[in-house]
Amino acid sequence: MKANQINQMFADAAYVRMGGSQSELKCANYLKEKCAQMGLEAHLEEFEVDMADMEAAELIIDGKVIPCKGYLCCGSGEVTAPLYYMPHDDVYSLSGCKGKIVLNDGYMGYWRYQDLLENGAVGFITYDGNANYADEDIDQRELRSYVSKGNKILGVNINAKQAIELVKGNAKEATIRIKQKEYKGKSHNVVLDILGETDEIIVLTAHYDSTSLSQGAYDNMSGSIGLLGIAEKFAKEPHRYGLRFIWCGSEERGLLGSKAYVAAHEEELKNVAMNINLDMIGCIMGKFIACCTCEEKLVHYLEYMACVESFGIRAYQDVYSSDSTPFADKGVPAVSFARIAPNNTATIHNSYDTAKVMNAEQMVIDIDFISRFVAQMANAGKCPVSKEMPENMKEKLDIYLARKRDKKK
Ligand SMILES: [Zn+2]
Repeated sequence: MKANQINQMFADAAYVRMGGSQSELKCANYLKEKCAQMGLEAHLEEFEVDMADMEAAELIIDGKVIPCKGYLCCGSGEVTAPLYYMPHDDVYSLSGCKGKIVLNDGYMGYWRYQDLLENGAVGFITYDGNANYADEDIDQRELRSYVSKGNKILGVNINAKQAIELVKGNAKEATIRIKQKEYKGKSHNVVLDILGETDEIIVLTAHYDSTSLSQGAYDNMSGSIGLLGIAEKFAKEPHRYGLRFIWCGSEERGLLGSKAYVAAHEEELKNVAMNINLDMIGCIMGKFIACCTCEEKLVHYLEYMACVESFGIRAYQDVYSSDSTPFADKGVPAVSFARIAPNNTATIHNSYDTAKVMNAEQMVIDIDFISRFVAQMANAGKCPVSKEMPENMKEKLDIYLARKRDKKK
């Protein structure tokens, strides 16, 4: 795959592709078409996702309308209550939630939401964006079903600049009004098989969806193009292990595509030797990482391999917030590759994630290194990575998937 082809694909996919949307489906069909152009037949696998059409969302603070976006799937209705900014989640801070609309830092994660419910909050506000940027963008957020578990309180997302003003101005009373239609929709994984000589396979994944403001060039058209590049190479080269490529939908909505895949293909997972996931490669600046959710030996192997192949890498053992995690959670050894941009050079989940932050030459180099690793594993007499998930990774998976609370946070 050449740099000019890569640039063309970034240009072709320069649009927002939220999980479950028509534009996401358009990109799924685009990827399928790209496979067809290489003589490869991919197919779409659909899965159900929660959807909502927001009809009205309003936030009024002390009589003043504050620009906001309502949380999808948080229900409809109206609530008025005192505003409470809660940066901490200690016992004292939590005791102040009762009967309040709570302003939170960061994402509305699983434990924060449980804390709000348990302590009697009646609504919530989150914020995002960068107070130093000129834009007033507000990301479209959703109350994920595994977070709410059906217990919904109204929530809105606002821009960081407004959040700062609210706290600085000692805002007193908030009203949230939301009207939305909630329903079930479809998202899709794009699946391509390139057969090997054995029944055992290596699964390669990359998500192709984006968040609401983002064209998702870096996160993660880059990895999606990476998979196409790898498929192109192995379509022409014989290899022992079968290769299954999955372009995952709805990753940004909580790894929904990979979760749906492992649920629908649970029986076949015993034949999966490993998962190789690409999520954000080929940016202009930044370090290349290999996050291994498996035995530690692969960390050292990758360090040695990269060194002899004259390629810089930082390999480590951890859980990566991407589609490798549902595979690892089912006992499939997984590695995620990424080139992590230095702070504020290529940011994600905002309108700045466009082809401008990408470097097609770097993409070629990154894809080439990953392909060489795939070739080693795919041509192994036996893929050497143990299918036993070590205890430290099981613990990290429990925390990431909110089965266990991280006491240190
Ligand atoms: Zn991503």
